[in-house]
Parts: sequence; structure tokens; C-alpha cells
Amino acid sequence: MALYTRVSGSVGVITLQNPPVNALSAAVRQGIVDMMDRALSEPEVKSVVICGQNGKFCGGADIKEFGTNMSGPALIPLIDRIESAAKPVVAAIEGIALGGGLELALGCHYRIAHSKAKLGLPEVSLGLLPGAGGTQRLPRLISIPAALELITTGRHVTAAEALQLGIVDKVTDRNTLDEAVKFALSVAGKSLDLHRISTNPCPHPPDVDAVFETAMQRVRQRARGALAPVACVQAVRAAATLPYAHGMERERELFKGLFTSGQARALQYYFFAQRAVGRWSTPGGARWDTSKPRPVRRAAVIGLGTMGRGITVALAQAGLSVVAVETNEKQLTEAKQGVSDMLERGARRRGVPPALDKVIYSHKIQAVADVDLVIEAVFEDMELKKAIFQQLSALCKPGTFLCTNTSGLDIDELAAQTQNPELVVGMHFFAPAHVMKLLEVVYGQKSSPQAVATAMQIGSKIGKVSVAVGNCRGFVGNRILKPYLEQAFFLLEEGATPELVDKVLEEFGFAMGVFRMSDLSGLDVGWRVRKAIGLVAPEALTGPYARVREGHRYSPLGDLLCEQVRFGQKTGRGWYQYDKPGGRVAKPDPWLHRFLEEYRAQHGLVARRIDHQEVLDRCLYALINEGFRILEDGIAAGPEDIDVIYVLGYGWPQHRGGPMFYAGMVGLNKVLERLEHYHQVHPDVPNLQPCSLLRKLVASGSPPINKWREVIKKPHSQL
Ligand code: NAD
Repeated sequence: MALYTRVSGSVGVITLQNPPVNALSAAVRQGIVDMMDRALSEPEVKSVVICGQNGKFCGGADIKEFGTNMSGPALIPLIDRIESAAKPVVAAIEGIALGGGLELALGCHYRIAHSKAKLGLPEVSLGLLPGAGGTQRLPRLISIPAALELITTGRHVTAAEALQLGIVDKVTDRNTLDEAVKFALSVAGKSLDLHRISTNPCPHPPDVDAVFETAMQRVRQRARGALAPVACVQAVRAAATLPYAHGMERERELFKGLFTSGQARALQYYFFAQRAVGRWSTPGGARWDTSKPRPVRRAAVIGLGTMGRGITVALAQAGLSVVAVETNEKQLTEAKQGVSDMLERGARRRGVPPALDKVIYSHKIQAVADVDLVIEAVFEDMELKKAIFQQLSALCKPGTFLCTNTSGLDIDELAAQTQNPELVVGMHFFAPAHVMKLLEVVYGQKSSPQAVATAMQIGSKIGKVSVAVGNCRGFVGNRILKPYLEQAFFLLEEGATPELVDKVLEEFGFAMGVFRMSDLSGLDVGWRVRKAIGLVAPEALTGPYARVREGHRYSPLGDLLCEQVRFGQKTGRGWYQYDKPGGRVAKPDPWLHRFLEEYRAQHGLVARRIDHQEVLDRCLYALINEGFRILEDGIAAGPEDIDVIYVLGYGWPQHRGGPMFYAGMVGLNKVLERLEHYHQVHPDVPNLQPCSLLRKLVASGSPPINKWREVIKKPHSQL
């Protein structure tokens, strides 16, 4: 809704009222139309101010209305009406002006922003474009290159940057509404010709074709198959090359195409999924809304290798005091330098002082005695971790939460080493830990609701999306990764190359194909885990058993590469070759191709031609099948948890929603049919055997993803 008041005798003030962000719902739009009519019809009113209640101008369209039959006045004519008004209209921007909110402000003749306000057109991240004239007005106001950058990235800008770009006319530290009213009084009766943005020509660079070609190339490269950023460039191009009315037609046409595309649905699902994971629950009955976190002021990190350093930075940047413990003196010296460098770089980027004084270093574990929470990040070695948990349990003050960053070891086994297993949870970060947005919070059988709630809260405090998951080997992310990797190895055995598999997965939209990713993270990591669980056979083992473990098909290809010290980028050789150890550019390696040929010959395997569809089907459906098993086992509470983990931690393309959403888009019966087919061809691969939950969902008529929880029987712990 919108409230109308008259201020200072001649200023009509329209206040948008729709908590929490004054989204432009049908009622709000109707309110604006009615209040504008009133302001324009009252002769005493000489100018108008539009503002939002509770310190927020407007967060944009009401996303809940998407996909429904929209009622109420449409936004475009409403904004046009404001712009064509004979009385000056000033937007008083506090808090946020995002999406449709900024488009509304662009329809006003003037914009005054509070210094803390954030502005932007983030529609692209929902698979859309600013469809209420944003793509046509913004380039007219701030130039084509600047508008292209903002619209194709969806980036929010501060009020200061908005002023510099020319989006707003004035920034204030004072009461925004008072300033806007003062401003409205000062411009009453003045000509509005130059302030109706749509009537202004779009600044036209001489090399307009080159500008758009370069922009399109850059955007396509980054988009990884996403349609919206490309459509954004096309819409801005229309602003540059067509009259306003035609540009608007083009904007509408492009918007419609995006709106009905599966991508917008996927991105909107993903938007809500990120929120849904915050409403966590465990099979034991703990819930986000009934579990109270305990405040954490001081934390400790044990082990300052790759992960420990990143975790220390993330904690310190969020204002926590950190005791950072590393027993190896050389590592400790390097870690001090590394952490300080990262803190300084981060601080420079954010324009704040570096939090160097937040970190205290020690080579003694005794230094943790007084902290509220410990995150252990030593080598992935169960015996070592057990010993550390025993020490921590004896050393720490009562009530200290003991967390582990293990990638997949048993949380309950670690908890059993302590006097208070209810204080133990997993906090599985992703590398680099100060950058990656994902945190898996792993609850064990005995983890208390408070321990889970505290780990979840620390996660959001340090800017992560935290997902609560159950305890099983690999938790959610790494557990799903296993069958995906396995299929990729099998495809190599059957005739594919790493280049072919990676190309197909990258064309699908993954940030990196499976082999390039494996080279980046290091082949030795998985090798060590496989050795520890007895999967790596002694070198002498040849013949059919070389490729069989516990009666199932196994590919030793990764182990064989590791035996040649081909660990990936770090050694300059892996599935690809690099110009030097630590090199980044992957080049096909003839050695690897010869090696694969010899391997196939040795094991009597005949290479066949493998097409793109088979690569996709086998890698993705094996992964999705494991996702259903995870749901069935109650390790993840819902499909959203899996999808968020996979997008944020494993480079799954956002515009495909996540693996479980994708399964729904493809059609569950198709996924089932393909899995049945591949399992028939490869009966020795249990991961291709369709999971019973998938069968159950198909038997229940393949309900939409938001109804899956009803079909998943009451989840139970696997352990
Ligand atoms: P790393 O080898 O880089 O670092 C481990 C550090 O622990 C070393 O500096 C070592 O000196 C130190 N350390 C060993 N024993 C110690 C002790 N008793 N007290 C204090 N410090 C000790 O390992 P990493 O890659 O940082 O992995 C650490 C943990 O994080 C592992 O459990 C790993 O599985 C997990 N993890 C790793 C990644 C990754 O991508 N590297 C991602 C997620 C989780």
C-alpha cells in the first residue's frame, strides 16, 4: 500500500508500505497510482516525494507474484505516468533501491539518496532483465558502458558511487525525507524537460558496434550458458540504437523470453533455496527456530595449512578474536605472513583497516584454553584428529564447542574422544575458505541443537551460506561427488579423453570440468583417502581384480597417476600438463593419451566412440541418484540443501538450479529410465542403480520439487 501526506504545505509525500522491503506488490502499485492522482490533482501541491517506510525505499518486484496471474496496475505505465507528471517528483532513497525499486526511482525526475543506501538492478541474478524500463533509462542517464556493467552483473552500488555515476542527484547523511522535501520545494515550478530520462537521447559512443561486441564476448564467457546476461546486453543495445518506444518493445520481448525460460525458474528457485537452508532441522527434532546459539567472541583454529589460514582470515574479518595454532615452526612462520597478507588484501578491497590485531599465533595447543569455539583443520588423518580432540576436551574451558573441518571423516568417532560429545560438530569449509560462500555444518548423533545453531550462526556471521547436514562419509557435497568422479573415470576407460569429458561438462555450465577441477584441487587428496580406507591396491595387483573392489567395478586410474607423482597443477602434471609446477593453464598431454591406450590394452578394454549425451547422462544422473539416496537417508533435510551445496561448493551452474532441481526439470521419469538403462549396461556399478526414493517419486506422479518432502518418509539418521 501507499500512504499520502502533505508536508510543508505544498509537497505531497507518497510512502510505500509493504514490509519488509516495500516490494512493488499489486496493492503497492495501486497505492502509487491512486496517490499520484491525488498529488497531481491537488492544486496546492507543487511537487511530490516518493519514499519507503522503515528506512527502505523499495526492494523491487514482489517475487512471490512471479508465475501467478498478476493483478493490479502494471509497473511500466505507472513509471511512465510519474515521469510525464507536470509536477516534479523526487525519490527519497533510504536503505535500498533495487530492481523495480530503482526503475521506479529512474522514473522520478530527481533522486536523493542517504549515504548508506544501496542501489542496483539485480534482475540478472534471477534470470531476468530490468523489465520496467531499467535497460532503457539507465544507459540514457549514466552512459552505455556503465549501464552495461551494472545491468549485466546485477552489482549493487553505494550511494557515493551512485552519485559519481550520476544515478542520484544528491547524497545526504541527514534525514533523507527532510532533505528530499527541501529539494522538492526548491525545484517546484522549474522545467522538467531535462529530467524525463526517457525523452533524453542515449549517449552514443562512435564505435557502438565494437562496444557491444566486446561486451557480448565478455558476458558470454562469464555467463556459462546463462541467457539473462546476454539478453541484458541486447536490451541495452536497443537503448543505444532505437528510439525509446522501440527500445521498450525490445526490452519487453527479451523479458518475456527470459521469463518463460526454464533458467528464470531455476534461478528463482535457487534464490529461495538459499533462504530455505537457513530454516534447518535435524532428524533428532532440533530446529532453527527452537535452537538458540551461544555467543562466540573468541575462537581458535588448529592447523594453519591451506584451510586453517583461510578460516582464520574469515573469522578475523568478521571481528572475532582468533587463536591460531600450528605446531610446525616453518608452517607457522609462513602462515603468519600468509594470513596477514590475506587480511591486508581483503581490507584494501573493502576500504577498512586490516584486522591484524584480531589474530594471536601460537605453536602450542594449550593456547586454546580460554576460547568459546575451536575449529580443527589439521591433516585429514583420523588418528591425528582423534588425538587432538582428546587434548581439546581436556584443555578447553567447559562448554567450548569443538568443530572439525574434516572433508568427510566420521564426526561421531571424533565426538567419542571427548567428554562432551554434544559440543562437537563439523564445520566443513571449502577452499579458499575466506572466499568460498559455502559451509556444511555437520551434526553428529550427539551434537546438541545449541552446537548446531552456534556453528550455523558463526557461518552467517562470516558471510557464508551454511547448510546443516547429517554425518556420513563425505557428508553431502563430497558424497555426491564420488559417483560423478567415478563415472568420469569409467568413461576414460571406455574410450573418452579428459578433454572430451571436461568440454561436455563445461558446456553444460560447470565452472570447471571434472578433470580440470581434480588437477586444481590435487589428485593426491583423494588418493590418500582411498589408501586410508584400503581401496588402493598394491602395485602388483593386475588382471581383472585390478578393476574390482568388493565385487564392484573400480577404476584405479587416479591411483596410477598418483604413483607417477602426477598430482595435478601442484606437480605440473595430472590429467593435463602445465608449463611448470603450480601452472594454471591446462594443456592436453600426449603422455596421458598414450597411458590411457596402454591401460586399456593391458586390461582388455576396447575404446569406443562416446558421445556428449552419454557423458552428461552418466556423470549427472549418477550424481543426482546419490542426491536422492542422501534425501532418503535423511542426511539432507530437503532438495534445496543439496542444490545450494552443489551450486556454491562445486561449480554447478546457478541457472540450472542445482542437481535436484535439474532432475525435476528434465523429468524424474526420464532420469529413472536413463539410470535403468545405464545400470543394465553396467550392472557392476551400484551407483547407477536407481535409488528407491526416485522410484517412489516417479510412482507418485513425479510431483514438483516443493512437494518432494511429502513423499520422503520421515527422515532417519544413517548412522
Ligand atoms: P594442510 O596439509 O594444508 O594443513 C594441515 C596443517 O595442519 C599443516 O600446516 C600441519 O602442520 C598442521 N598440523 C598437523 N598436526 C598439527 C597439530 N597437532 N597441531 C597443529 N597443527 C597441526 O591441509 P588442508 O588442506 O588445510 O586440510 C586441513 C583439513 O581440512 C583436512 O581435514 C582436510 O580434509 C580439510 N579440508 C581440506 C580442503 C582443501 O581443499 N584443502 C577443503 C575442505 C576441507
